[in-house]
Amino acid sequence: MKIKEIRAVNVNIPHTPPKTKPRRPTWNRSAPRALPINKYPEFSRLPSQMPGMGGGQVWVRITAEDGTWGMGACSFGDSVAVLIDQTFAPMLEGRDCLATEYLNDLMWRSMQRLGAAGHAAVAQSGIDLALWDLKGKLLDLPVYRLLGGPCRDKIKLYATGDDLDWSMELGFKAFKVTNPAHYEMGIEGLNLVEEKLAMARETIGSNAELMLNAVMSYNVEFAVQIAERLRPFRMRWLEEPLIPTDLEGHIELKKSVPWMPIATGEDHHGRQAFRQLVEHRCVDVVQPDLKWCGGLSEAIKIYTIAEAAGIVSIPHGGGNTPFGQHFAMALPESPMAEYWLGTDPGIPLSEVRSIPGMATPIEGCLIPSDAPGFGMEIKEEWIEPWG
Ligand SMILES: [Mg+2]
Repeated sequence: MKIKEIRAVNVNIPHTPPKTKPRRPTWNRSAPRALPINKYPEFSRLPSQMPGMGGGQVWVRITAEDGTWGMGACSFGDSVAVLIDQTFAPMLEGRDCLATEYLNDLMWRSMQRLGAAGHAAVAQSGIDLALWDLKGKLLDLPVYRLLGGPCRDKIKLYATGDDLDWSMELGFKAFKVTNPAHYEMGIEGLNLVEEKLAMARETIGSNAELMLNAVMSYNVEFAVQIAERLRPFRMRWLEEPLIPTDLEGHIELKKSVPWMPIATGEDHHGRQAFRQLVEHRCVDVVQPDLKWCGGLSEAIKIYTIAEAAGIVSIPHGGGNTPFGQHFAMALPESPMAEYWLGTDPGIPLSEVRSIPGMATPIEGCLIPSDAPGFGMEIKEEWIEPWG
C-alpha cells in the first residue's frame, strides 16, 4: 500500500463546555515557573507567554492510496508545518506506507545537516505518529498490539501540577510539582523551592512519590544545592534541571548528588542524545516526548537503549496523548505515565476538552482504546488545511 498524500492540517474538535462549575481557577493560570529565558526578568513566568513556547499544535494526515488515513500530531506551528509539507511530503509520497523504519531512516538521514533535531525531529514525529495510526487502521489492530503489547492491564499515572488536593481527590498516587526558581535567583530561589517541596511532601504524605520539574532552569551549581535542600523529602526524581546540550553538566551533577535520581529527555531529540545520557549513566529516567523526539519509532529506539542499561522510560506527557498511552501499554520498562493536570479543580476529567476516543484517567489509571491505530475518533469534517 502506497502513501498518496502527506499534509500538515488543523483539526477543529467540537467541544461542549463542562456542566460542572469549577471550585477555583487552576494553578496553571497563575503559578510562576522558570525556563531558561527567565534569567531575564522582562519575560513572563507563565510558559504560555514565553518566547519559543508557541506556534500551536500541528496535526499530520497521511492518506494511503485506498483512501484510508492516519493522524499524528506535533508542535511549534508554521515552522514545522513547512518542513512536513515542503521537505518530507515530496520525499515520502508514493512509497510503501507500512515501511515505517525505512521512511523514518529517509527523514532522519535527510535532516543530518540540521542535526536531525529541533524542528526537524518535531516534524518527523508528526509524520511517524500518523504512519503508526495508518498502519493500525490498515491492519485493524491498536498500536499497542503492533508494538508487542499489552504488557499490563492498565497504566498507572502520575499527576503533574500544583493543585495537589485536587490531584489526590482524583485518585492519583504520585505527584510532580512545578519549579518556581531560576538559578539567577540564588538563595532566594533555593528557599522558595525548599518551602514548596516541604509543603508538598506534607500534603501528599509519606507513601506517595514526589517529583520536581525544573524545565532546564538550573545550572550545575544550583541543581546540586537544590538536590541537597530536597534530600529530606525523599524525591522520586529531580526532572530536567539542565539544558539538553550540557552533557558534561549532567555527568558532573550525577557524580555530585548520586542519591538524587535525575530524570530528563523531553527536550532531547533522537537516539544519539539519549545514548550519551545512558552510556555516561547520568540519568535515571528517560523522558522522550513522542511528538518531539522523532516520533514513536524513535522513542522505541530510545527505550531499547535505556532498557539495556536498566533505565526506565517514562515519556513526557505520555498519559495526555493517545500516542503516549499506547507506548506505556506496550512496553514493560515504562512503569508509569505522566498526566499533566492543568484544568480547573472541581471539573471532572470526563468533562474536560480532549481528543474523542482517547482514554481519560479513572482513579489515577487509564486503559487505552483498543480500536485500530491510536483509537482516535476524528471526523473528516473537522480537518482543515494548515494555515
Ligand atoms: Mg518536564
